[in-house]
Amino acid sequence: MLHSVEQLRRVIKAGIPAIGLLNGSNADQYEKCAGLLVTMGIDCVAIHVSEYLKHRRDPLLMGLMWDALKFASSKFRKMLIVGATDPFLIRYPIKEAFPNASVSGLSWFIDAKHGLVYSALGKVNAYEKDVVCGCVPCSKIEKGALSRSTFDRAVHNFSVVQDAIAGQGFPEVELIDIVHRKKKLAIVSDLHIGTNGSLVADFCNAMRKEKPEALIFLGDTFDMSTSDFKLLEEQSEAFFKLMHQLSCEVYPVYGGADRSLPMLADQLKRIAYDYEIHPNLDFARYLMWEFEYRPLYQIFKFYVAARDSITILTARGRRLYAAYGPSLNFGMPSPERVGEILKEKGCGCLVLGGYHRKAIRGRRFYSLGAWQVPAEDDKESKHDLRGALFLDEKGIAYREFGV
Ligand SMILES: [Zn+2]
Repeated sequence: MLHSVEQLRRVIKAGIPAIGLLNGSNADQYEKCAGLLVTMGIDCVAIHVSEYLKHRRDPLLMGLMWDALKFASSKFRKMLIVGATDPFLIRYPIKEAFPNASVSGLSWFIDAKHGLVYSALGKVNAYEKDVVCGCVPCSKIEKGALSRSTFDRAVHNFSVVQDAIAGQGFPEVELIDIVHRKKKLAIVSDLHIGTNGSLVADFCNAMRKEKPEALIFLGDTFDMSTSDFKLLEEQSEAFFKLMHQLSCEVYPVYGGADRSLPMLADQLKRIAYDYEIHPNLDFARYLMWEFEYRPLYQIFKFYVAARDSITILTARGRRLYAAYGPSLNFGMPSPERVGEILKEKGCGCLVLGGYHRKAIRGRRFYSLGAWQVPAEDDKESKHDLRGALFLDEKGIAYREFGV
């Protein structure tokens, strides 16, 4: 403390305007510190409140904070409240209570760095959904930019802080999985990676040519119902290599063979246990074996980003609802059922995977073919193969890829 006071003295002596920092944790200490600053000719004081605000549910600490602010406000001409720019922590009663106060802090920027956007819904996570906001700074940027740019989030958050200080409310926002922004987006389904019939190699070749900028997987991407780990390892390696090459946006959706993270964890466990080592008795060896099972970790990571459905807002304001079909309707839905689903979801176009059959009805309904041929002993099933739905500037188009 003394050290900093010495520095402050030097700064003042050099004619540089300085703000003193009011330190202390009780009235006595504030009094002492303030006295010292006043003798040095300082009439502006800063006070840190971020620690108090973190514990804002504790009435004792909040009482201490208000005492400190009142004290500082009575002794000094101006007061700077540091760490008080989170508009959700303080509702800005400070401005009325202390007209001589200014606030500072970087929470609006730190939150922006963590993907958070200030809104009437609270701090929404722009890494989970695209945030559509109509506030003044956001009306000048591309829709969906809040999910892709820390700078744009920071500008938005800062403007919300300024509005909050001015006594205005929070901006209304809408959360949508994907705001389509002129990019080439491909929707595919049913790769069943890890099975004999998987056409993942064909898929990789097709996508290498198409170079989509965003890929949506409508379920059954990995199929771990078979325990052929060698196959799963080879095919998943090719798949993840492609993802790396394309370096596109990737949106996995849960399907049937990959219904949820807990279900996937069970399947991973079954495969990881599928060798003749006792996991407890031979623990050291068990861990060493795990080393070879790295693809399982990657597959799990793939699904950590998965969701149950995807809503896409197109540039023309159309809404597409994409999901794993059997989770909505047991068989291919009738036109009436499609209408019901669309009404329920508030969308104008339904895209489903999971049926392994191609179906197109006007611009309202698309069912995608699979990238998996039926098993040899399954003579009955007929699959439509190697289909992908593309969405780009020109619109929506289904394309099939020959061998
Ligand atoms: Zn905004």
